[in-house]
Order: sequence, then structure tokens, then C-alpha cells
Amino acid sequence: MNKLDTALVNSALKEAGFSLTASVKDADAVLINTCSVREHAEQRVFSHLGHLKHIKKSRPDMVVGVIGCMAQRLGDKLLEHDAVNIVCGPTQIPQIADILKETLEKKQKRLAITEKIRETTETQNQVLEEFESAYGIESSTNFHSSTTPSQCQRDKTRYHHKLRQSSLKIGAGKIPSQAFVRAMRGCNNFCAYCIVPYVRGPEVCRPPEAIIEQIKKLASQGVKQVTLLGQTVNSYKYKIGNRTWSLADLLDAASDIDAIEWLKFVTSYPSEEFFDEILQVMADSPKVCNYLHLPAQSGSDKILRAMNRHYSAASYLELLDRARAAVPGIAVAGDFIVGFPGETEDDFNDTVELAKKARYKNAFIFKYSPRPGTIADKRLQDTVPAEVKQKRIAELLDVQEKISDQLSRDFLDKEVKVLVEGLSKKSHRNIAGSSDNPQLVGRTETDYIVVFNGPMSLAGQFAKVKIIKTSPLTLFGELI
Ligand code: SAH
Ligand code: SF4
Repeated sequence: MNKLDTALVNSALKEAGFSLTASVKDADAVLINTCSVREHAEQRVFSHLGHLKHIKKSRPDMVVGVIGCMAQRLGDKLLEHDAVNIVCGPTQIPQIADILKETLEKKQKRLAITEKIRETTETQNQVLEEFESAYGIESSTNFHSSTTPSQCQRDKTRYHHKLRQSSLKIGAGKIPSQAFVRAMRGCNNFCAYCIVPYVRGPEVCRPPEAIIEQIKKLASQGVKQVTLLGQTVNSYKYKIGNRTWSLADLLDAASDIDAIEWLKFVTSYPSEEFFDEILQVMADSPKVCNYLHLPAQSGSDKILRAMNRHYSAASYLELLDRARAAVPGIAVAGDFIVGFPGETEDDFNDTVELAKKARYKNAFIFKYSPRPGTIADKRLQDTVPAEVKQKRIAELLDVQEKISDQLSRDFLDKEVKVLVEGLSKKSHRNIAGSSDNPQLVGRTETDYIVVFNGPMSLAGQFAKVKIIKTSPLTLFGELI
């Protein structure tokens, strides 16, 4: 979500005459897009701000803006920070170019957040929709770094400016032929630990025609893979007359767009609603990738209840069984939170058991981080000591790593089709890659990361790779 917002903001600023700079030192303005899901993410923003405060001593006119979830959560408290000039919540992002221009001119601090985020109006939704439709075409191409500061510079040659190659600190992560498209905003689930409903507002599904139109335009610009986004994207629904569109209908309609070859969607909530329909379209359409991100969060029914997640460990595993029966070869990824208030050793062992049964290709595992204002923070004490959280996360990571390793090994000597993203950021292997045969990275339709050597011209193209070595999270191969 944040990556998409960063891309939308970049695009809107570019149109307003700003351009990205290579370094903070050259920038008139620095924007930091933020995430509030865990405290650690917010701490990193504060450390960025500390650095910017230092730079501002010699460049007092430089404008610093904090946008996104942290802006909405902390509001005027954040504006009090010496380095900060603009605080702009997710709902005000469509106004960011005007806010930035005004702040550069008037040199005043500016707070732009929604007072009652759970009561967003129809007008606000329309503004967000127009912004998304206008800038979600070229801009929704995705980016690697999420809370990256973007450095903006007003470009005097407003209509002629170009983003210099070297200036693309963010753009460098741009992945050719791939785009994110938002299917829904916000969330109504109120999982006890989660800040999202309080900073992103209520769930709003975008009209299917706007989504399909956006995908068509992206396709006409060379996009081959679209990932539909939503906090609980599988519960997408939109009523038009007597018909209710589900995610399955969206995927089905998007599959009809010729140039689109792969469709993915994240993140799914474990629930019955539309589950079988979505699996059906995955099984039927060769374009809908066989990949499901279905976070369980815990394997203990007691903890799941306390988390306000509406399923049991058994019903969760039953969903996975159904997915694997309907879509052979489907890869599943998960999320876990360890150390939720009241989590005993037995509860944690239930989580380990669930992980063993779920056999995820990979899992994102987090230590519980109390978020002010959430149900868990208000009603429950953060009882699990830091060292116990640490021990549990290490144990669960270890269990998951072994499973990921086994699943990766199944690919040895097999051929896979990948959509090539570009240069591999890490130099994984000591293969002498010459400049015309560098180390590239791509992903399979089941979201496996594949590293191999090949010409840079493959970026944005499909390629066939034979896997010759594996690690838990990466497959290594040779171009066929
Ligand atoms: N909407 C998605 C995930 C949103 S947040 C879903 O429902 O699955 C991404 C992940 O961050 C969550 O799946 C959860 O594992 C983790 N997370 C959210 N709040 C957290 C908190 N307070 N502490 C630790 N991890 C958290
Ligand atoms: Fe947060 Fe739960 Fe909504 Fe996901 S479903 S965003 S975890 S409240």
C-alpha cells in the first residue's frame, strides 16, 4: 500500500513541476511516506527526521513533509518536531502538490489530516478515487523501498523537466512491466493489535469499472503483471444494480485484457466469503497466479479470539486444504505475530504446530508491538517479556526456514517461468557476470524469487530458467 502511495505522490508531484533529486542535499523538499503498523517503523522515521533536522541547520528553507499513516496517527504532535513542516495523512495525499507549493512559498507549518478518520465522506472518497485513477496509470508501477524519503525539487522548466536517471533514488526500484492497483482502501476488521483501521479509515471498495479501466491503460503501456491490493482484498465487493462484484469477478474481467499475463492479489483474510469462487478463478484462468497470502497470525484459538480474528486454527487449516485441493501447486505465504498479550508457551507451541501444518513457502513473522489506541493496547497488558518474544520469533523463524528450504528444494533441476524484475540487488552467487550478462532477479507466478545471469534487456520480460541451486527464500538458476 505504502509503495503504491509513494508512486502516486511521485507522479502527482512530477506533474506539478517537481523533480526528484539524487541527494537530500540538493532538495528543496523532502517527503517521508510512513507506516505505523509497528513501532519500529515509526522509530526509523524519527531517526530520519533527526538527520534532516541536522541538515536544516545549514538549509533552513528546506521543507520536510511526513505523509501517510504516521502523519494521521500523530498529527499535531508530529508537526511540533523541529524538522517537520508538513504533516499529511493518507486521505489528504491528493492535495500534496498544492500543500507543498504553498509551504515552500509561505514557509508555514501545515497540518492536513482527517479529524474523524472513521467518518470519511463521499466527497473525500471521490477525491481519492479521482487521484487514484489519474495517477495510478503511469505511477502505479511498483517500488522496492517503502518508507523511502523522496526528495523533490521544483523544476523551473515545468513542462520540459525529465527525471534524470541518476536522480531516481526511488525510481531505481521501479520494476518494469509490473504495477499495483488498489482494489480497496481502509479496513473494517479491527484486529485487536492493528492500527490500520484507525489511520486508513473504513473499508471502501473502488468501482470495478475504474479498476478494470486502470488495468487496461496499464496494459496499453506495457504492463504485464498487475497486483490488486487491499487489506482484506478477498472480501472485495461492489454492488451495481442487482449484481455484486467480488474479487473473483474482478480477476475474471482482468483476465480478458489481452496484454495482462499475470494477476496477483494481496492480502487475503481467512474467511469463507468468496473463498471458493476466488480459488475457482485461480484454477480456471491461467493468468491468475497460483499464489495466496493468507496470514494466520497465531495457531492458538485463545489468542486468535483475543486478536479478534474470526476463525480457529482448524478452520484456517481447512481453508488451506481446500485451496490446495482446488489449485494444485498453489504457494501460500503467511504472517505471524509472536508475543501477543497473554500468549503462553502452549499458545506459542500451537503456532509452531500450525506453521508446520500450513507449510508456507515463506512467512512474515513479527514480535507484537503495542500500538496506541488499538483494542489490545487499551485493554491488554503487553505481558510477554522482550526476551521471550525474541526467543519465540527465533524458534518460529527456524521452523519456517526448514519448511521453506524443503519446498525450495522441490524446484531443483526444474524449469520455471519468471517475470524478470531487473538487476539483483544482492550479489548472491560468485558467478562472473560480465556487464552484458549481469545477475538478474525475477519471480515465478507462485512468487518465488529466482536469481540468474542474463542480459539486462530481459528486465520486464518473461524468461525460462533452470533451477540449479536453492536456498530457503531464493532459487538460483541458468537462463534457458
Ligand atoms: N491486512 C493484512 C495485514 C496488514 S499489516 C492482514 O490482515 O493480514 C501486515 C502485518 O503486520 C500483519 O499481518 C501482522 O502480522 C503485522 N502486524 C500488524 N499489527 C502489528 C502489531 N501491532 N505488532 C506486530 N505485528 C503487527
Ligand atoms: Fe489490520 Fe486486521 Fe485489517 Fe489486516 S484485517 S489491516 S490486520 S485490522
